[in-house]
Amino acid sequence: MSADFSALRAQFPLLARELGGRRIAWLDNASTTPRPRAVLEALREYHEQYSANVHRGVHALAAEASERFEAARDEVANFLGASSSEIVFTSGTTEAANLVAGALGLAPQDEVLLTGAEHHSNLLPWRQRCATRVLELDERGTPLYAGLAGLFTPRTRLVAVHHASNVLGAIAPLREISALAHARGIPVFVDGAQGAGHLALDVRELECDFYAFSGHKLGGPSGSGALYAREDWLERLAPQRWGGGMVARVDAQGCELRSGPQRFEAGTPNVEGVLGLAAALRLLREIGMPQVEQHGRELARALLEERAHLPGVRLLGPVDAAARIPLVALALPPRGLDAETAARTLSDAFGVLVSAGRHCAHPLHDACGVEATLRASAWVHNDLDDVRRFGEALRGLIA
Ligand code: PLP
Repeated sequence: MSADFSALRAQFPLLARELGGRRIAWLDNASTTPRPRAVLEALREYHEQYSANVHRGVHALAAEASERFEAARDEVANFLGASSSEIVFTSGTTEAANLVAGALGLAPQDEVLLTGAEHHSNLLPWRQRCATRVLELDERGTPLYAGLAGLFTPRTRLVAVHHASNVLGAIAPLREISALAHARGIPVFVDGAQGAGHLALDVRELECDFYAFSGHKLGGPSGSGALYAREDWLERLAPQRWGGGMVARVDAQGCELRSGPQRFEAGTPNVEGVLGLAAALRLLREIGMPQVEQHGRELARALLEERAHLPGVRLLGPVDAAARIPLVALALPPRGLDAETAARTLSDAFGVLVSAGRHCAHPLHDACGVEATLRASAWVHNDLDDVRRFGEALRGLIA
């Protein structure tokens, strides 16, 4: 493991905390990540130095806040390989999916194609408005992408798919999916909540039309996030929220909308959230996303190795570390310790923090015939020792 990554832990103040006298092994990054000092600093600086509203005031601090806010848009664009005019700030992936679902004007007779492995936030926004057709899964829960071509019908309006699954850890073949969809004139929405913090990204290379992610899954503040919408799509979408900040002019008769992404950002935005998000992305840029990806593969390999030494434990998702982000969801042996009790004991007796339950992916758990899973998810601040401690402690509990 490279020296840079071993030093990174010190940049996350939360990880200096101990639980029961033990160093925390934070393996709950798929739920949310600890915030690095750079993000906390950006929030503090905003509140202490220039906490004005953006795009409204004319005084010096308002200008400074607005400039930094727009610089944050440039940072997001750079992170995604997009241009700034294609970035809409949102409160996270859930809001982005709802925005696109509304903005596309989906009607009950329309169809959205999904996999059976989606998070509820990439299922319910579509299902509330129209029909869905769902790609089947193999016995480990991995989507059978070969079946995708057969799901398109004349009513298909969109393909909505995860970049990486929050339960399987599996990375979806986005380029192939985009090619299939585009050959039929259908756009692709990518739920990047679990992909963005782990995988080097270039939305042009992925050829997706929409890409959504959440700040808190990559070190940023809760309630921050962004939606990439390819320029031609952004121009065609209808705003879903109305109010100040999105209009160039309003008179008694009507209003003239601003051009570009601000049309979708009515009301005072989450300014500090956006600035914190940009600080998180800057840190990832400094580390280098190819390095983050490589570190993630090492952690994924280590997680799979630990799982191989857990008797009777079933792994969901692919067995190949290269096909995964560093996340494993495990079904514990029946008639043994349940996942919730295991997670609580790992926390209280070992200082190892993981998730347990159905992780907002009930249909996936149902399809796999699994009541609940124990999920360990690593990120840039984790090292092999964290993973080893998880494996050892769980082995002890199962035995
Ligand atoms: N999609 C996936 C795959 C997720 O893991 C999550 C959160 O866990 C979401 C969407 C929703 O993200 P948020 O709650 O930040 O909007």
